[in-house]
Amino acid sequence: MPDWRDYLDKALKYHGHICGGQILGVRMALLGLKLLGLTPGQELRDLVIYLESDRCVADAAYVVTGVTLGRRRVKLVNYGKTAMSFLDLKTQKAYRISVVDHDRPPKDADIIDFWSKKKDEDIFKVQKVAIALKPGEEPGPPSRVAVCQKCGDEILDYKDVAVNGQTLCRACAEGPYYEDLGPVSF
Ligand SMILES: [Zn+2]
Ligand SMILES: [Zn+2]
Repeated sequence: MPDWRDYLDKALKYHGHICGGQILGVRMALLGLKLLGLTPGQELRDLVIYLESDRCVADAAYVVTGVTLGRRRVKLVNYGKTAMSFLDLKTQKAYRISVVDHDRPPKDADIIDFWSKKKDEDIFKVQKVAIALKPGEEPGPPSRVAVCQKCGDEILDYKDVAVNGQTLCRACAEGPYYEDLGPVSF
């Protein structure tokens, strides 16, 4: 397995800075791959990562594994935790890695040096877990395509909802995250 420090240049380019999140994220991803018997650098077609926050560690996981949201290999389950699970679709094996060491470097400390002194076993807890992808979560072509009967938008992958016999998108059924300020000509 490569050393986590080997990824810091790539993480800096992708993420914009080196932070504790890059170091922890790179180390979590390398550990996740090692547990699954996978090698970084090869195409990891069967790897799915569940991220439990949308913070710095997420970018570090992309840098090490190459998996992306757009290829349906990344699932965000935002618990606000520095934790992630690594699922191998081929073997159905999965491991969840979370940070149990809440000690952080003092201000102005050399963070690479600080984290170098700690072993993975000091920082992380690893659980063997079982994860079942829900219908519509699999990589590959859309498993279902529906059309919202109110707004007309196409809805992929079982994200449509049935309300009083109508097929609706979640924006129409539950209210959107945006306020509609009207159409714009362009
Ligand atoms: Zn960061
Ligand atoms: Zn709609």
